[in-house]
Amino acid sequence: MTWIGTSWKMNKTLAEARAFVDGLVAARSALDGVRAFVIPPHTAIAAVRERLPSDVPLLIGAQNAHWAPAGAYTGEVSMGMIADAGATLVEIGHSERRECFGETDDTVALKVEAAVAAGLTPLLCVGEPAGVRAAGEEIDWVAGQVSRGLSRIAAHDRHRVVVAYEPVWAIGDLGREALPHEIAPVMAMLSARFGPDGEAPFGVAAVLYGGSVNRLNAAALLGVPGTDGLFVGRAAWDVAEFVELVRIGARAGAAGPRDAR
Ligand code: PEP
Repeated sequence: MTWIGTSWKMNKTLAEARAFVDGLVAARSALDGVRAFVIPPHTAIAAVRERLPSDVPLLIGAQNAHWAPAGAYTGEVSMGMIADAGATLVEIGHSERRECFGETDDTVALKVEAAVAAGLTPLLCVGEPAGVRAAGEEIDWVAGQVSRGLSRIAAHDRHRVVVAYEPVWAIGDLGREALPHEIAPVMAMLSARFGPDGEAPFGVAAVLYGGSVNRLNAAALLGVPGTDGLFVGRAAWDVAEFVELVRIGARAGAAGPRDAR
């Protein structure tokens, strides 16, 4: 099944979060064909959980959590706390966390380990900055980020992890859309080395693509071999747009060979 998800980043009040859920519930049947997820800010996780009818197949995530189970870490929340609020998935190592909040491959690995220990699905975000891409070193860069991110968990736990490839130069308002042929070599490497059908005996659950995805480029990006789904920012914050992306994901899943899994 194709994965389609969005992180709201630092957006949406409780009222806006509930309105998004209501819009999704109104289009509930669209969700059957995909593995959909929404990642609200911490303040709205419980509100989304409470608003969502239990028979609506939507995974709820958190955008970050600390690796320690509890303690004197002002401003942080633990994996157990986000699970308690209703998250089953946690985003780890997004480029904005790495750039603005000092996340390193070491802290990312600690968080992946803590997420798995808490029974959460880590959504491990990786991707090269523009300079690395210009130097033609993106394959090694991204492979290194994934290897280090997974370094603290046992191989047999890798199936609990989802990897999102998000080139930094393609993310956000200042990013530019990646073309399928630009991401294809990286997706092929991720799929072969770490993916669910790859060469390693213990692959991750899925490899997603993210970065300036929208309803116009989604189908083409989903067509890149090795792509199990899309992780979307801005273009999915409006619930109608999210539903449209979900429908595109369902169509791609129904047409593609990975649907057989
Ligand atoms: C992201 O930040 O993970 C992302 C995919 O953002 P956008 O789609 O807005 O580029």
